[in-house]
Amino acid sequence: MDKIQMKTPLVEMDGDEMTRVIWQEIKEILLLPFIDLKTEYYDLGLAHRNDTDDQVTIDAAEATKKYGVAVKCATITPNAARMDEYRLKKMWKSPNGTIRALLDGTVFRTPIVVKGIEPYVKSWKKPISIARHAYGDVYKASEVRVPAGAKAEILVTDRDGNETRTPIHDFQGDGVVQGMHNLDGSIASFAHACFRYALEQKKDLWFSTKDTISKTYDHRFKDIFAEMYERDYRADFEKAGITYFYTLIDDAVARVIRSEGGFIWACKNYDGDVMSDMLATGFGSLAMMTSVLVSPDGVYEYEAAHGTVQRHYYKHLAGEETSTNSIATIFAWSGALRKRGELDGLPELCAFADRLEKASIDTIESGVMTKDLYLISSLSDKKAVNTTEFLREIAKRL
Ligand code: NAP
Ligand code: MG
Repeated sequence: MDKIQMKTPLVEMDGDEMTRVIWQEIKEILLLPFIDLKTEYYDLGLAHRNDTDDQVTIDAAEATKKYGVAVKCATITPNAARMDEYRLKKMWKSPNGTIRALLDGTVFRTPIVVKGIEPYVKSWKKPISIARHAYGDVYKASEVRVPAGAKAEILVTDRDGNETRTPIHDFQGDGVVQGMHNLDGSIASFAHACFRYALEQKKDLWFSTKDTISKTYDHRFKDIFAEMYERDYRADFEKAGITYFYTLIDDAVARVIRSEGGFIWACKNYDGDVMSDMLATGFGSLAMMTSVLVSPDGVYEYEAAHGTVQRHYYKHLAGEETSTNSIATIFAWSGALRKRGELDGLPELCAFADRLEKASIDTIESGVMTKDLYLISSLSDKKAVNTTEFLREIAKRL
């Protein structure tokens, strides 16, 4: 059999722990036998990030800008324990944060829906993708405790030194105060990424804020989305037969629960943080959640939503058998290969991505799955397999 050819390399970002083990096996068992795989390899494993003073993360992000499509393995975000474990020179920043900042991207998360893993919400038939604005608000806020008798104001000094004061509260008792911000430019990038992604996925786009209460702050988000939609996207949305729909966050929550799914829900930073965990759990499993970072100028980075599955890695190191779910990482590869195929006009590559996803889903739906799914699957005839057996079962069907 001739292998499927590629034109442009994918930017490949290797990672850490159990997902690094799986990464290699996915390539060996599911990709290399079928594709003449072209990648530009960047090792984002923590040891190499430390050796290069994290330059490798920046280089990988720059390569992603250059080529347009990347696939990334989960990586460790260092904390105090990792400083000792890896003898780090510094507590390096989260690679995802660094890449997101360089690409000015928005993250879209979508659950993979399979028979036997039923959503907790009975009406959900199709996946719901969530887009979280990844800049500002409470994540970049300043806050202080305030004693009784104090007066709090917002003071804005413009570039000429003029001061505007807006009262917050006269404190009769002790309390707290918080100041936060966002930027028109960041909100616009977020909006562009959402509109583009909806067009590409041919799915409706919902957006929600609390503009009835936050009449200036949240209202700015609503206005930027609405103006951009009218100016740049309405015609294309109508042609594609999809809609843009704005509603209040509380109304959105109620509608999401009653819906069949099948749309993209754009959320402000905090709402997206909370609601993405709600959706991941509602659809059944974090191990079945894919993630793609989309920049406003159309650069894509695909990955699994879960982390490096540290506990399984230590078992693996101890020579014990593991049963780690590779589905989200496989879908990161299939997503990236399909996008590469679309951009380079390679229908064979797109078709391979479809077959890989179908073989993965068929495996689980035929009752063969990793332990995490085995514990929640409603199939009566089911079997739990180990990490490598699961990949071989997919390969059989592929
Ligand atoms: P995690 O790797 O997502 O794992 C948390 C738990 O969820 C696991 O212990 C496991 O439960 C279950 N799980 C997650 N993915 C699974 C899979 N594919 N198959 C089976 N079970 C799975 O999160 P963490 O343990 O909190 O974080 C570990 C490291 O990942 C941290 O260093 C963190 O910085 C990093 N992280 C990276 C990313 C990223 O690169 N995108 C995202 C999140 C976290 P059981 O142990 O009960 O089986
Ligand atoms: Mg969260």
